[in-house]
Amino acid sequence: MEGDWSPLSVIRDIVDEGMQEDPFYVMDLGEVVERYQNWKDLMPRVEPFYAVKCNDDKLLVRTLASLGAGFDCASKAEIQLVMDMGIKPERIIFANPAKMASHIRYATARGVTTMTFDSETELHKIKQCSPDAQLVIRIRCDAADAQCPLGIKFGCEPLTEAPRLLKLAAVLKLNVVGVSFHVGSGAGESLVYARGIKMARVLFDLGETLGLKDMRLLDIGGGFAGNSNSDLREVSQVINAAIETNFGGRDVRVIAEPGRYFAAAAYTLAAMIHASRELSTGTDEGHTMYFINDGVYGSFNCVLYDHQTVAAEPLEPSSTRPTTCSIWGPSCDGLDCVIGSCQLPPQHTGSWLVFRDMGAYTLPVASPFNGFPVPRVRALVDKRLWAVLKDMWPLNEATFILEGRPTGPQTPEDSLTPSERSATPSPTPDTHH
Ligand code: PLP
Repeated sequence: MEGDWSPLSVIRDIVDEGMQEDPFYVMDLGEVVERYQNWKDLMPRVEPFYAVKCNDDKLLVRTLASLGAGFDCASKAEIQLVMDMGIKPERIIFANPAKMASHIRYATARGVTTMTFDSETELHKIKQCSPDAQLVIRIRCDAADAQCPLGIKFGCEPLTEAPRLLKLAAVLKLNVVGVSFHVGSGAGESLVYARGIKMARVLFDLGETLGLKDMRLLDIGGGFAGNSNSDLREVSQVINAAIETNFGGRDVRVIAEPGRYFAAAAYTLAAMIHASRELSTGTDEGHTMYFINDGVYGSFNCVLYDHQTVAAEPLEPSSTRPTTCSIWGPSCDGLDCVIGSCQLPPQHTGSWLVFRDMGAYTLPVASPFNGFPVPRVRALVDKRLWAVLKDMWPLNEATFILEGRPTGPQTPEDSLTPSERSATPSPTPDTHH
């Protein structure tokens, strides 16, 4: 939502107040709503279960809960976070194929009984801790390329291991209800979903011959792109067609576990340059090192762990010729390099840089190493959207009505935050991390 009202204009307003020295995020709730609606429009048969691990910011989780999403939780703490918001257990899948026994017991005690497995030991463990669980076998199905491949760690081989595991589940009288796969996070291939869905159908058929009569859940995992310039259309066409071909007339519930798709574009990070150093390169072209107040031990851990490349944008546009520079985090570690080389118009101490699409796999991993605080999140929401959303917080089981959703406001006065401050938005609630 550009124009008078955008994450960048709000960042400018906050910075212009002159009180801000620490990095901060602006989180646009409207972006999440828009993405949810887009998902529903493009893949009406696929229910999104948001992968909490991607970003457990309560603002995001609450918003998605209000919209009617389900949740993919990987641990006891994630289940607790979601359920403490009022989410019913049926809206949660415990999608970690290698769970700790105490976490399985906790989930079961709270009524979360849908869970994944990909090994014999997990089946035996579940038999002990949650014998009535609804089990989903996770098979391996890797995209040709992915930002973070997952098949190396999870997912049994569909043609060799999966039949053996399904037979064991039948012998143990466990209740297998479906098949899941994850093509890899940040997948660069769409057709992989067709392969996974086709393979799932093969296993549904095998399950039937083994007497596993309750197989009715297909979980196509995550892997969907989430940056502002990404498009769900192509992959949705592949998925819809594959579901129709393989599960057309069948009473099969289809879910997915998108993380990045909902989180990435909703968060814009603002970081300030607090120091710089000129390097002599021996050529006419110099190189400036800029030091900012967030680094790879904070939000930019995504550069190391999530294999992300990030792009810096000066908050204030400039027509001065860009020069070569690098961007470094605040810690005393040489590893703390955010961007090794890029081009920016000359910046000065106190200038702010903006990083878009920073909502996925950033905040939950960030640490205050060396005493530098993890950025706070400041929410940005259209007054009319907030009027609807706030009634849903704390949540009940009602689903937010998407029809008639207000569009972005035209004037700064309209750009209210949850605190209903209308002049310069200084949004609350802030979330602490
Ligand atoms: N589901 C599972 C089991 C995962 O491990 C992950 C990410 O690691 C996700 C869903 C979310 O994936 P993405 O963010 O690529 O949508």
